[in-house]
Amino acid sequence: MSRANAPECAVCEVHSESVYRVDGMDCHEEVALLERHLRHLPGFESFSADVMTGRLRVAHDSARLSASQVAEAVAATGMRAWLEHEQPVAASIGTGRRRVFIVAASGTAFLAGLAAELAGVPPLLAHVLYAASIATAASLTARRALAAARSASLDINVLMLLAVAGALVLGEWAEAAAVIFLFALAQLLETRSMERARHAIRSLMELTPADALVRRPGGERRLPLAEVAIGDTLVVRPGERIALDGVIVSGTSEVNQAPITGESMPVEKAPGDEVFAGSVNGHGALEVRVTRLSGDTTMARIIALVEIAQAQRAPSQAFVERFARYYTPAVLATAAAVAVVPPLAFGQPFGSWFYRALVLLVISCPCALVISTPVSFVSALAGAARRGVLVKGGVHLERAAAIGAMAFDKTGTLTRGRPKVVTVQPLNGTTPGRLLGLAAALEARSEHPIARAIIDRATAEAVSPPPGEAFRALPGLGAEASIEGEPVLVGNHRLFEARGLCSPSIDARLEELGRQGTTAVLVARRNVPIGIIGVADATREAGRAAIVELRRAGLEHLVMLTGDNERTARAIAGQLGVDDVRAELLPADKVEAVKQLRRRFGPVAMVGDGVNDAPALAAADLGIAMGAAGSGAALETADVALMSDDLMKLPYLVRLGRRTLLNVKANIAFSLGLKALFLSLAVTGTATLWMAVAADMGASLLVVANGLRLLRTE
Ligand code: ADP
Ligand code: MG
Repeated sequence: MSRANAPECAVCEVHSESVYRVDGMDCHEEVALLERHLRHLPGFESFSADVMTGRLRVAHDSARLSASQVAEAVAATGMRAWLEHEQPVAASIGTGRRRVFIVAASGTAFLAGLAAELAGVPPLLAHVLYAASIATAASLTARRALAAARSASLDINVLMLLAVAGALVLGEWAEAAAVIFLFALAQLLETRSMERARHAIRSLMELTPADALVRRPGGERRLPLAEVAIGDTLVVRPGERIALDGVIVSGTSEVNQAPITGESMPVEKAPGDEVFAGSVNGHGALEVRVTRLSGDTTMARIIALVEIAQAQRAPSQAFVERFARYYTPAVLATAAAVAVVPPLAFGQPFGSWFYRALVLLVISCPCALVISTPVSFVSALAGAARRGVLVKGGVHLERAAAIGAMAFDKTGTLTRGRPKVVTVQPLNGTTPGRLLGLAAALEARSEHPIARAIIDRATAEAVSPPPGEAFRALPGLGAEASIEGEPVLVGNHRLFEARGLCSPSIDARLEELGRQGTTAVLVARRNVPIGIIGVADATREAGRAAIVELRRAGLEHLVMLTGDNERTARAIAGQLGVDDVRAELLPADKVEAVKQLRRRFGPVAMVGDGVNDAPALAAADLGIAMGAAGSGAALETADVALMSDDLMKLPYLVRLGRRTLLNVKANIAFSLGLKALFLSLAVTGTATLWMAVAADMGASLLVVANGLRLLRTE
């Protein structure tokens, strides 16, 4: 994990509380050590440690101190900390209702003051009302301002109070009240909207029940998840939410696993199938053998990964932060110059230039700018996670927006990866049963989907495979072993070519099979071909539509990469509408193909199953793994993990990436434009204080609201 998560800004503040799990915090000595390391971090507010559970709770201003910086500080002590989940709180400026009440009271007093002034009552009464408004709102900021002033750091609270004090010096009571009231209101609204973005992730977590009905020898009991062990049997009633990952041992049902995979349709499940914590059982009662504990479920890992993703800094954030670092000091310097130079050097009236300087103070915080980018990314990542698309960081979203070509693995990606034997053709006097038996004996040790198909066929025909040994997989080619003491070879055309086992008659059969989109598996014994087994795999339903949508999104170069033979690959590509095929590739060739595509078309996305395509996924600019819900490896290794096998998530990903970039750019342009406008209005004396506060705070709220729209991108 790299540096920080939330906005980094010297002036803004974003109160948050992060909860960490700390490895190595076992006694109070270590807590004291942690305190020594954390206390002096800028933006640190308070912390509490629970040695029993190994949890560390840190309240901090995430504008200045990011969650990952806290983790780094912990790491400096030799302990290890990781985020459990992040919860924003309104910390010392009051929480929840109290804060709303104070802001409302300040607003009421301010409006009453305005009304009194308009009604022409004696000015003293209006001043009293304004003073009340100022005092109430200032109660929210004063403490923080004091703390900041003591550490001589620039802080938005200090700047605002300075502006208010300045306005009072000039006798601008209404302005002073407007500034502090609007500031308090905006901060309140901002906290609320930030909470919404974060809630998108927390709401996922709330989907897993806190306890489960467990069957043990003594009977059925409802137990908190912490007491459930791997291997326990959960009893899941119809309509209930499944509490832990597991494998069905009895019962069938349709299970809605939308929270994990984003699939809107329930999935039929039977004994032997995997189910995920957080999914909802349909009409059947199920018994589930627990395979993962509660902190370890697929859902828990998704949440952890999204949190890490949100902590990564996207490239566009770097620009904003570099800008913010210079912006505030520059504006404050301008303010000082505006207050001092014209009156002293040019004999201008002090009051009016002092006022202009105050306006500059108010707009010296680049809040809108700094907050907007992370909010956009957090919303986009959270929205994607809820749709079963796990993007491992903003940087990958930016990549998705910019890719020039998309490469697909065939087996398990464009096809279902559940091939079936469609034809068994013995050669050279072998019987079909013998052919199947030898092939199955070899495939019994293979992980390849083709192996499953051949074994299933052998089982269906009651062929029992003879014993074998010295099994060796030939990745991308096939496998070999010694069966009954004789060398047996199974694999594709490329393998048999290389071993010099092909003949014109075999080639003719292969061509025929290839035309139908069937994968030919050749079998040889003692270097003599004994037959061909034809295996076919259905394409995924959404494949064609997804390809069309990707094209519509402007992605021209869609390429199938496969180890299968050319003709078969072309037949399948034709069914899906993929025009470019690179066939007969070994795993290393796929990596080379990805690099070639990059040279020609720019950044390349590679879509694969994440297990046997891992090298190509890693070589691509954007590695996308499919069906990650069932495979831990795929979930961890890819840049983007599609929890389901739905190819329609690919155009969604491209769309989301582009929208996020647009959103961020619009926000940056808007806040920069507004700043530029108010800077010039302030210096020329056209902008009033309350206008500046309203515009500034309005801008933050608008960009946050704009960023939150990404949660809803379809
Ligand atoms: P893909 O690119 O389609 O995912 P792989 O690289 O896994 O395919 O394998 C390429 C080809 O090698 C397969 O189409 C198949 O012909 C052959 N092959 C690989 N492993 C086996 C096996 N265990 N049994 C039979 N054929 C295999
Ligand atoms: Mg594959």
